[in-house]
Amino acid sequence: MKAQQEEREEGMAGNHYDIIIVGTGPSGLTAAIYGQRLGMMVVAFGDIPGGNLYMIERLMNFPGFVGGVPGAQFGATVFAQAQAEGVTFPMTRLERLIHQDNAFVAVDVNGERYEGRSAVVACGVVPRMLKVPNADKPGIYFCSLCDGPLFRNKNATIVVIGGGNMAGQEALSLSNIAERVLLVYHGHKLKMEAVMQKAIEKKPNIEVLLGTTVVAFKGEERVDGVVVSTEKEGQKEIHAEGVFMAVGWGPNLEMLNIAVEKTEEGYIKTNQKLMSSFPGLFAAGDVRDTDIRQVITACADGARAATYALEYLDAMKD
Ligand SMILES: Cc1cc2nc3c(=O)[nH]c(=O)nc-3n(C[C@H](O)[C@H](O)[C@H](O)COP(=O)(O)OP(=O)(O)OC[C@H]3O[C@@H](n4cnc5c(N)ncnc54)[C@H](O)[C@@H]3O)c2cc1C
Repeated sequence: MKAQQEEREEGMAGNHYDIIIVGTGPSGLTAAIYGQRLGMMVVAFGDIPGGNLYMIERLMNFPGFVGGVPGAQFGATVFAQAQAEGVTFPMTRLERLIHQDNAFVAVDVNGERYEGRSAVVACGVVPRMLKVPNADKPGIYFCSLCDGPLFRNKNATIVVIGGGNMAGQEALSLSNIAERVLLVYHGHKLKMEAVMQKAIEKKPNIEVLLGTTVVAFKGEERVDGVVVSTEKEGQKEIHAEGVFMAVGWGPNLEMLNIAVEKTEEGYIKTNQKLMSSFPGLFAAGDVRDTDIRQVITACADGARAATYALEYLDAMKD
């Protein structure tokens, strides 16, 4: 293994790596730790150590932590572990990942170029947005844990858009901060777990508006409410100090300039070894066509993607 590593290091001058990893969430960081420990030179891109872990108030379902662990703390620890293994972290986002002259080329937001012999796309998911007027204005939030405290002690009315578990979770958490929470959903029946629905019913300051479609965000400089449409009342405006989106997530693949097979929703399809339809390009975690999107499955994906990346690189040498 040592000889292999020395041989690899000899060929690695400047920004040349064995694996380029896109994403510093649990899947990217685990891939980075495994890759480096397997003797490869690893560079991992991302500006948030731990990725979406910071949004998890208390990670309760990861083995090894009685009583759970704050997501941000877990993310920072795994990041420090990867740093200690020698992973290179430019701490920038990737502008694009391309394949050129037999190499993966990563160009970061500062225009810096990095080359890799393989790549692992581990860039997670991003919240979905409504395609309605004013959706590009500031004042629309996606994470109650992160931005809910902005509305503490403000007698605020907050609109939460969505009807699934995520919307339920957001409404419940914001009901402890805001004076009034309006859960606005276009469907006629909430889609969340019964337990969550019951918890919402018990909260006197959460009002559920079913059959109510958001047709625009309102506000001049910043969003200060929504315009909704209902069968009975037609269009009306609802003023709110804060608007939180909770209508689901989609893959985060804007930077990927390599054609790969994807699902209808845009998730990367992989084989048993987590390789995409493009040789040498692997996918791990939430961005992949997978059945369970959780921290533990993301970590497992990272471990497997790095291991199979090494297998791929070794096979290329034969
Ligand atoms: C509110 C909330 C609560 C959750 N609670 C739990 C829970 O209790 N238990 C559990 O197991 N799971 C939970 N999850 C799910 C869990 O967070 C995800 O499954 C997990 O984080 C996926 O890891 P990942 O590495 O695939 O992606 P992410 O954690 O999303 O990390 C991807 C990283 O890639 C970065 N990235 C994206 N594009 C680029 C680019 N162009 N350049 C560089 N970097 C880029 C992103 O910024 C992000 O930092 C929760 C998720 C949310 C949102």
